[in-house]
Amino acid sequence: MIPVTKPFLPPQEEYEKFLEGIWSREWITNNGPLVQDLEEQLKNYLGFRNLLLVGNGTIALQFAIKALGISGEIITTPFSYVATTSSIVWEGCTPVFVDIDSETLNLDPNKIEPAITENTSAILATHVFGNPCDVEAIKEIADKHQLKVIYDAAHCFGTTYKGSSVFEWGDISTCSFHATKIFQTIEGGAVFSENQNLMERMYFMRNFGHDGPGNFNGLGVNGKNSEFHAAMGLVNLKYVDDLLQRRKHQYQRYEKELKPESIQMLKLTDRDGFNFAYFSAVFESEATMNRVKTELEKKHIYARRYFYPSLNNLDYVSGEMPISESVSARVLCLPLYHQLKKEEQELVIETIKKTLRNV
Ligand SMILES: *Cc1c(COP(=O)(O)O)cnc(C)c1O
Repeated sequence: MIPVTKPFLPPQEEYEKFLEGIWSREWITNNGPLVQDLEEQLKNYLGFRNLLLVGNGTIALQFAIKALGISGEIITTPFSYVATTSSIVWEGCTPVFVDIDSETLNLDPNKIEPAITENTSAILATHVFGNPCDVEAIKEIADKHQLKVIYDAAHCFGTTYKGSSVFEWGDISTCSFHATKIFQTIEGGAVFSENQNLMERMYFMRNFGHDGPGNFNGLGVNGKNSEFHAAMGLVNLKYVDDLLQRRKHQYQRYEKELKPESIQMLKLTDRDGFNFAYFSAVFESEATMNRVKTELEKKHIYARRYFYPSLNNLDYVSGEMPISESVSARVLCLPLYHQLKKEEQELVIETIKKTLRNV
């Protein structure tokens, strides 16, 4: 079986070494030493000083919206994982969808201004598949209309844009360290911001607002992570360079082999900084996509319709987004993970080529 992705699990002994320390300290959660150590190591690795580890990438988005005090309408992308939209609704705000660019699959900045109303307070955009948005254009619009900007950078572990961390863009960026992402802590995520006050606000939010045992600094919930999650991160961080490197080779193989086919590949906004997190193939029609998917499944290869459906079609929101709907209907993410063997990838490529030629 060839799945679309597999979680990276490090050698079990390396994880077990951390367990001894946890048992001897008997400190298993509540901002323990491993969580603090992982935060420090991630700051160094990612080259970004203001980072807070949180429970997952979804609560990271909720914290971002809450910390910025956003209410009313948030302009957002319909082409993302459901958490981008659901977090907006969960926080009592209204998502206003703006269609995507057909080549980068990111929110199209040219369509933002017509969607701004007197109730608009923010833009929440996703760097789709680890490929940065047109951050300069979005910043210009946001500054002009005094809107906050949040980036759902769940796919962006290791992505840089023009030489520095992509997390520098926006008022707050979020990342996910879920099992299926490049760098995983089983469940986990982080928030990033240049603004110290926002970081401090989110620091208290993460732990019920506790400022000492009997004092509270504002409203909080539980967004903590445990020592067991941090241990997984500390071990995995040693392997992440290798994982990124392998992804890059696999991505480039798909690119080279599938180039002659009528498949639309992602237009990269900064190839040198890209983390090659996903390989997306957009086919000519939904029928073609379905044929490819079915032929792959006959060989026990499971590509994933990702993102699907276009989020404007969720039953708790509304609107029509022609480009996003069209791409969602035709896209497949192809298998890409550390242990994917060359022969396995060749089988994926051959199966796609054969299917497209028997039109
Ligand atoms: C994975 C993902 C999330 C959610 O992250 P979790 O850690 O699973 O909560 C949010 N947005 C995007 C784009 C994602 O891919």
